[in-house]
Amino acid sequence: MIESASRSPVLQILKHASQTLLAAGCDTPRLDAEVLLAHVLGQTRAWLYAHPEHVPSSSQLSTYQSLLSRRSEREPVAYLIGHKEFFGLEFMVTPDVLIPRPETERLIELALQWAATSPSLRTIADVGTGSGAIAVALAVHLPQVRVMAIDNSPAALATAQRNARRHGVADRVHVLQGHLMAPLARTLHLIVANPPYLSQAELATAPPEVARWEPRAALDGGPDGLAIMRHLLPMASDRLLPGGVLLVEIGASQGARVLTLARGLFPRASVEIAQDYANRDRLLFVRHAQ
Ligand code: GLN
Repeated sequence: MIESASRSPVLQILKHASQTLLAAGCDTPRLDAEVLLAHVLGQTRAWLYAHPEHVPSSSQLSTYQSLLSRRSEREPVAYLIGHKEFFGLEFMVTPDVLIPRPETERLIELALQWAATSPSLRTIADVGTGSGAIAVALAVHLPQVRVMAIDNSPAALATAQRNARRHGVADRVHVLQGHLMAPLARTLHLIVANPPYLSQAELATAPPEVARWEPRAALDGGPDGLAIMRHLLPMASDRLLPGGVLLVEIGASQGARVLTLARGLFPRASVEIAQDYANRDRLLFVRHAQ
């Protein structure tokens, strides 16, 4: 395969590469092959289609071959190219952070909708910030706010900090190391989180891209997936200002259980479950009493 592709043009290379990735069990072999080749050539995917006869250099080909073999081990494309788009912004990602997911964009939309009706909003906590995708996206869209981006992992915080700098919001995104909300004594207007919520069974059946490569600490929600939620909700109820909002991403099968948990801990609040665009339960939305 390597030999036969070594002097081939783009079109030929992509054909071989997608066959290799298909055989390795990748879900989107052709797309992955194109994204990785475009990355190696420093071009866009559209450029590949415009230059099907282009012949890459042998050093480009050997870089490509090594990325293809890593992808064949099911290492996620985002780790291989080092970035992922989220809410229209490009975020640097490393294997120390969860790769931002499109379904989490719904959390940003709901947070921004609520923010538009809450002129007093000044402080936000993003609990378990990882790459900083949520914290940075909110800071970019809400110039009046400061965001406390908390994570237990110093390596994750270094990435979050870099992403804050890259998007020009490092002066308003403050990274804090610690467990959930422990490093924050103050009260806030808005608390957001995408905590680890996969159950043991879900982790065991997750695709290799997730189970083998993404940080377990960002995914593992204990036996039923709600272990972190049980710690997070009481901490949040101590730190939410009157009229404040808590928005937490949840697993699609957790809506009813999370609703019961949250109603118990926030007896005077309005508590709802919101859906993602695939109409699956995806978010806990708590509006604290005034
Ligand atoms: N949605 C992620 C997945 O299915 C899980 C993210 C999380 O646990 N916060 O891989």
